[in-house]
Order: sequence, then structure tokens, then C-alpha cells
Amino acid sequence: MKCAKFNVGDKGQRYETHYIHVDTKEDLVFGWSNEPDKLAAAADLMPSAESTYTLDRETKHEWTITRFLRNAPFCRVCGIVRLASEKNKPCKGPTKMRGMESSLTTEESK
Ligand SMILES: [Zn+2]
Repeated sequence: MKCAKFNVGDKGQRYETHYIHVDTKEDLVFGWSNEPDKLAAAADLMPSAESTYTLDRETKHEWTITRFLRNAPFCRVCGIVRLASEKNKPCKGPTKMRGMESSLTTEESK
């Protein structure tokens, strides 16, 4: 996938920014950078981008920033907040969801 304006090529940079296409819901690569939020901010401005995330190829976290929480990127997989040092431990994968329902209907699973 090429992006004429921002494609800087995959030269093994740590961060790979993806975006979800607003119509097709495809997960597309936007570009690569050694700065985690640099390309995500640009990708987020595209009308065709429904959402964006940046894969940290070192730790496998998928960092997400929102318009409201620009300074608190978190992993959309495990939910951990990114350290300013960028030295989070590797992603442990999806957190086990314990929804409100399970704590309210305690007898149902028996
Ligand atoms: Zn994670």
C-alpha cells in the first residue's frame, strides 16, 4: 500500500501506523516512523480514515490516540498506557474482559 504524500518506506522503523478505511473497514498501512505519534496524527486528519493505530514492532503494542486523549496513548489490544520512555514491556495480548454483567449475575454461570 502506497501513500503518495506520506509514504517514507519501510526501512525497519520501530513504528508502523495503520488506519481503518471509513468505507471498506480495511486495515491499511499508512507509513513507518521512529516516532510513535508522528504519522498517526497525520493519518487521523484524512477523511478516509475512520480510526488509526500505530503498531510498535518492538513490543507489539498497538498504540491508539484519540482526539481527546492526545497525551495518553494506550494499547488497543491490552489497554496499557504507553510510558513516556517508550519502554513498555511487550504486549500480552487482549485483556480478558470481565463485563459488568458477569459481576451482577453471579448465579447464571452455575
Ligand atoms: Zn498491548
